[in-house]
Amino acid sequence: MLIVFRPNACEDEVEATIALVLRLGYHGEVIGRPGRRAIAVGGGLSAPGPDMFLAQAGVDQVVSDPNPAFLATRLYEPEDSVIEVGDVRIGDGGITLIAGPCAVESETQLFDVAEKVQKRGIAILRAGAYKPRTSPWSFQGLGARGLQLLDEVKRATGLYIATEVVSETTLGDVAKVADLVQIGARNMKNYELLKAVARCGRPVLLKRGADALLSELLLSAEYLLAGGAPGVVLCERGVRGFGDHARNTLDLAVVPAIKRRSHLPILVDPSHGTGSREMVLPLARAAIAAGADGLLVEVHPRPEEALVDGPQALLFDDLDVLCRDVQAIASVLGRVARR
Ligand code: PEP
Ligand code: MN
Repeated sequence: MLIVFRPNACEDEVEATIALVLRLGYHGEVIGRPGRRAIAVGGGLSAPGPDMFLAQAGVDQVVSDPNPAFLATRLYEPEDSVIEVGDVRIGDGGITLIAGPCAVESETQLFDVAEKVQKRGIAILRAGAYKPRTSPWSFQGLGARGLQLLDEVKRATGLYIATEVVSETTLGDVAKVADLVQIGARNMKNYELLKAVARCGRPVLLKRGADALLSELLLSAEYLLAGGAPGVVLCERGVRGFGDHARNTLDLAVVPAIKRRSHLPILVDPSHGTGSREMVLPLARAAIAAGADGLLVEVHPRPEEALVDGPQALLFDDLDVLCRDVQAIASVLGRVARR
């Protein structure tokens, strides 16, 4: 349960209400900031009725959801949040493209991709140094060497880097290089990692778990915001479905649903969402049409040589078509595709 205060509620009114919550034997925590306060209420066999809280001075509304997000929602921030990655503003109404290979594979591969990505005016390069793989026998990423190459490519090109963190042990090293720290689908519910990443000082790209409800995604974003993350960008990358025609079921309905509930920007990853190159372009178009703030796509100069996710990697000619189509769809919607 969430007791939400009016913007003009004073801290004394919040104090009086938390005292009541605790007196009733519930767990209560004051959250938000002055002018945007709420009390998260939990514990007990059932939630207390809302009436006695609604009668408290300063209270605006009571949300009965037993596990509500607040900081990640429009209850806390009615306006769209803009997340700055260097001079790129994600969520300001424009469309942001992030592109790169699944993994850093070699110096040649990374610099080749970086140059081609940059030539297309894309400002954020994605590539994993640490790869969370389903099989322990699969390529696990170049690790520290991969981060070193990302650092070199960043210095050489000025591109911003989005790269994944998989463990607290390497978080410090990842955060030194990453302009946008990625939490992958598998770690969306790794709450200790979320708490640590929240403190690393970088904005976070939070991918939706393959089994995660929208409410769970927002609660993971809540962990990051509660811990002090300077910004959170959400990413839909497909969920487990029943079909075998695609790697995942890309849930585009989540885009308008998130827009309704959350102020955070939402990107769509049609690469992991479909798992095959031919499907990336149609789903990328659909994602922009559905209102996404941008796309995360995998590209590789020679997908047949890729060590990870070759089948879903776009060729650079495909990326050109994608950029052209995204621009066209964005302009129909009165938005601009600024890469
Ligand atoms: C990735 O972006 O390369 C990745 C591993 O994605 P996900 O966590 O969505 O599977
Ligand atoms: Mn991948």
